[in-house]
Amino acid sequence: YQGLAGRSTNEVLQLYSAHGQQQKLQRNSVVIQLHGAIKKRLKQDLKSLHSLAVELSKDFQRRSKAYLYQILTAVQGIQLQNEAMQMLQIKAFDLEQSLEEVTERYEKEKQKRRALHNSLVELRGNIRVHCRIRPLLPFDTAAGHSISQDRQRNFSEKVAYAVDDETVLVKCSRPGHASINKTFQFERVYNPLESQDTVFADVAPLLTSLLDGYNVCIMAYGQTGSGKTYTMLGPQLEENFAYAIEDESELGIIPRATQEVFRLISEKPPGSYWVEVSVVEVYNNEIFDLLAKDSCGKVSGVKRDVVTTREGKSDVPLLMYETVENASEFLHLVNKGLQLRVRHPTLVHADSSRSHLVVTLTITTIVSGDNFGTSWEDEQTSQRLSKEVSCTFPQKMRDNTSASSSRASSPVQLEATEKMKQVKTRLQLVDLAGSECVGMSGVTGAALRETSFINRSLSALADVLGALAEQRSHVPYRNSKLTHLLQDSIGGDAKLLVMLCISPGQKYLTESMQSLGFGTRARQVQRGQVKKKNVPLPSKAK
Ligand code: ADP
Ligand code: MG
Repeated sequence: YQGLAGRSTNEVLQLYSAHGQQQKLQRNSVVIQLHGAIKKRLKQDLKSLHSLAVELSKDFQRRSKAYLYQILTAVQGIQLQNEAMQMLQIKAFDLEQSLEEVTERYEKEKQKRRALHNSLVELRGNIRVHCRIRPLLPFDTAAGHSISQDRQRNFSEKVAYAVDDETVLVKCSRPGHASINKTFQFERVYNPLESQDTVFADVAPLLTSLLDGYNVCIMAYGQTGSGKTYTMLGPQLEENFAYAIEDESELGIIPRATQEVFRLISEKPPGSYWVEVSVVEVYNNEIFDLLAKDSCGKVSGVKRDVVTTREGKSDVPLLMYETVENASEFLHLVNKGLQLRVRHPTLVHADSSRSHLVVTLTITTIVSGDNFGTSWEDEQTSQRLSKEVSCTFPQKMRDNTSASSSRASSPVQLEATEKMKQVKTRLQLVDLAGSECVGMSGVTGAALRETSFINRSLSALADVLGALAEQRSHVPYRNSKLTHLLQDSIGGDAKLLVMLCISPGQKYLTESMQSLGFGTRARQVQRGQVKKKNVPLPSKAK
């Protein structure tokens, strides 16, 4: 500014503008320089960014390829697994099918084997023995008064098992006793879960035989409480018949057999069959006719006797036979008989397991003259049997009600036809008294008598089987009324089925072993081929 002193305004202005221009030039060159530097830097950054981006995208491509590969392999793996799974499923299906086929074949083979066994049994005249093990029941575990809890627990332990449908295993080890591990074979063994239906299914073929002309006897053997009455009649049938009828699935062999007999008869020509029933109780070695009526016409147990006819057959003279036309009529009659079994004053026993019950269905078949000639096997046998049959069955005691005389199947009407002949077959259904060996100590009076009679009659039954098994010439049928009454079924020409009833608990071990032993001995009896009653009878005397 000192230099400007004394200069003119123009000069000053010129100086200022020159200075400004110089500064402007300087600024411009700086800006240009800066711009260049920035541009350079930006270019560099852009370049590195670009390469980074390229790098990233390459990496991304690489990775996605790897993932894609992994996904593809996984998918392929899954596909392979699916295929393998399908193959396995097909294999499993094939295996299942072949298992089914094998099972089916096995069942068929088993049936064949059983059929063969049955024919063998038939040929040798063996007694068929089926064994039914009942379930453990609340009363098996009910605490006793005089025994310790430990013993109580042991008592209610199971010792008898159905291993399969032909084998019973008794297995038990008790401190202080030899351990038991024993098996028993029978024609059929029922486990505790098998129903009344199943049991009856095995009995039903015998009923077909009955209508084909064979005598049949089904007998329940076992200690008291082992299920004899349940198996033969059904639960509580004796006390409360109506209850049992309500639940048909619980019905036992006797009502079912009758239904089946009437069903089979309904398939035959009408009037060609008729059925008569007798109900008998053997108590204290006496035979009581539970259908006989006294002079007033009221039902009351009447004592009867069993005799041997000249032909060597057993017979009960004067035994009451009632004609029945259907199963419910039959059940009504049996029920009446069973009520009496409990109420009759001469029958002092408190419960039914103290007596043997024998329900007999006699089926009379009308064979026309044209048919019977062809069914004879040989003349001699037929003549012999013809006599036997006519004597074996007592004259039917007919009640003279108008209802019975108007029946289409009335024997009287049929006898009038010259060409018609009768064949009688018999179905005996037996509920034996309890087989337990009751000790005699401390028992007196009526109870002692009762017990000793039961023991004697059952051991007479065992003796008869023993004599038959050993084919002794003398068979002691007449040692007891029971064996005498059942003589023709046990030793004769009937198809006989013994239904052994077993309680599974340890408490009953001795009795169960005894029953299984009885059944085993019964199986050993060979009576020769069971005979068919295809023999026409001359009609009854006119
Ligand atoms: P038993 O006539 O041999 O003395 P019961 O037939 O009276 O024996 O049976 C005794 C008890 O056991 C009855 O209450 C009966 O209902 C029951 N019972 C027997 N067997 C069976 C079974 N298989 N299933 C269910 N309960 C049974
Ligand atoms: Mg009973």
